[in-house]
Amino acid sequence: MRIVLLGAPGSGKGTQAQRLTELRGVPQISSGDLLRDAVARGTDLGIRAKAAMDAGELVSDDLVLALIRERLSRPDALHGFILDGFPRNITQAEALTKMLGSLGQPIDAVVLMDVDAGSLMKRLTGRRNCARCGRVFNLHTSPPNADTPCVDGTQNHDLRQRPDDREETIRNRLEVYAAQTRPLIDHYRNLGLLRVVDAQGDVDTVFERLESAVKRAGPARSQRRMATRRRTAAKRTRSPRRQAKKTARRPLRRKPVTQKRAVKKTQRTRASVKRTSKRGVKRARPRRPK
Ligand SMILES: [Zn+2]
Repeated sequence: MRIVLLGAPGSGKGTQAQRLTELRGVPQISSGDLLRDAVARGTDLGIRAKAAMDAGELVSDDLVLALIRERLSRPDALHGFILDGFPRNITQAEALTKMLGSLGQPIDAVVLMDVDAGSLMKRLTGRRNCARCGRVFNLHTSPPNADTPCVDGTQNHDLRQRPDDREETIRNRLEVYAAQTRPLIDHYRNLGLLRVVDAQGDVDTVFERLESAVKRAGPARSQRRMATRRRTAAKRTRSPRRQAKKTARRPLRRKPVTQKRAVKKTQRTRASVKRTSKRGVKRARPRRPK
């Protein structure tokens, strides 16, 4: 199972990936975690990444790909992986395909955790944390209850919203994400790899959907059939001899007259005959006597 996981902030992507990891025993590989880990361990790649980050530059795609490649060589990634946070654009997607191809481990599916923008806003803007006990709540999905008392044992939490959880900031974050991801979605859809999972609903239902999407991993049957058709069509037009033959043959071909067509033709003729005769009668006015 080799998949790329796509999903907006607040889509529940992280939670679902974690479950998939536990159940299937394949690691979740997040490019962000890989970078932080490499920097912390001071590996060769980590030192290079840190230099770029300290200089305020973006870490190059090559470096991230090298980190992913190194991570995939570890034994736990033998049976697959869930890639998260990479690729973020077409260039990265193409580089990733190339790298995985060279390893003989192509992606089976790209799973999009789909949540509509309104619900995302609701989930993200509902986040509150208590200034006294430090608990994190969500007014919509996990509000304070009897199991989550504050320091004084009551329900009187001092709920605050973080500045980056404000509606304006979140809307901006979601827009940036959508603009970034749209081309990627199209790219993978064209390759027949995209699986869209409805990520609305409770965690268990969404996980069931994710599981069945992953089971169907690999190009969908209709996509495979289309790819074959495209290849056959391309082969046909590519062969100049065949093309020449085809053009030569064309003028000679005529659609054979079937029984049904023949009958129709007769009917049509009869009808038109009738019509003309009627008109003829009408036109033939009785002559005025002289
Ligand atoms: Zn509290």
